[in-house]
Amino acid sequence: MKNEERYNHLNKYLKEKFGERTLKICIDGGFTCPNRNGTISTNGCIFCSEKGSGDLIKYNKDISKQVIDYFSSYRSERANKFIAYFQNFTNTYDSIPNLKSKYDSALIDDRIVGLEIATRPDCINEDICKLLKSYSDKYYVCVELGLQTSNDKTGALINRGYSSNQFTDAVKLLNKYNIDIVAHIMVGLPEENFDDVKSSVDFINTHHIQGIKIHSTYVIKNTVLADMYFNGDYTPITLDYYLNALTFIITHISPEIVIHRISGDAPKDLLIAPEWNLHKKWVLNGFDKILRENDLWQGKYYKKK
Ligand code: SF4
Repeated sequence: MKNEERYNHLNKYLKEKFGERTLKICIDGGFTCPNRNGTISTNGCIFCSEKGSGDLIKYNKDISKQVIDYFSSYRSERANKFIAYFQNFTNTYDSIPNLKSKYDSALIDDRIVGLEIATRPDCINEDICKLLKSYSDKYYVCVELGLQTSNDKTGALINRGYSSNQFTDAVKLLNKYNIDIVAHIMVGLPEENFDDVKSSVDFINTHHIQGIKIHSTYVIKNTVLADMYFNGDYTPITLDYYLNALTFIITHISPEIVIHRISGDAPKDLLIAPEWNLHKKWVLNGFDKILRENDLWQGKYYKKK
């Protein structure tokens, strides 16, 4: 088996779906988050940066202008098809007319074939699903849902502000509208161990989702997690631990799920620890080696629930 066939890589999935290489345009929609603006909390999740987990986006301007700038740059020369990806903060946290206006502002170029929206499970409701569904005639529509862990005790510790049951409710609602879901999970959250990795995988396997983003917990500047790290209350995981966890996750999840990410993209200027997080290749190559040497593949140990 070729190594690229050992798991369902996003690039391969998009190529098959759209017939050619398809890239994401990361957009800052100017949203906030109920876990930031005081509705649930003002502190946010303990690992969340000032930019709401979208630190690699350099823009903070009009949505259409961001798209126009993207297409005027060399980046747009690498493909002919693109997905408008609303990444920062909670991209369904607004009134329906405002959401529609923001999404429409991004869908201004014929090369855009998809709309991807990152959000929280408690910011999904029937009206939002109907709005998202209304784009599906013309676009591939996908919602990224935070989960991080199925352990609600950790959820409280990281100040996530929603429960795993709320994740389940959001998944059911999106399933009802046949909207694709990508779940986020994190390895190495405070006070978690390998049993939590196993539980989160079991939990994911009981849901009808189409994709997953996996990354290790990293500490960046100006976060509660950074305070915990400097106080000695949090120790980041090692690269070996992460690779073992990643191997467990990939070999135990459904072979149908598309793997959108297997490593975090910590911003270099903001990263405090762990240092290995800056070396994406270490994760990608290390993981490929484990799969190859042990003849492993996605879903090898998956048991349908
Ligand atoms: S839900 Fe997302 S944007 Fe909101 S505080 Fe948590 S990580 Fe940050």
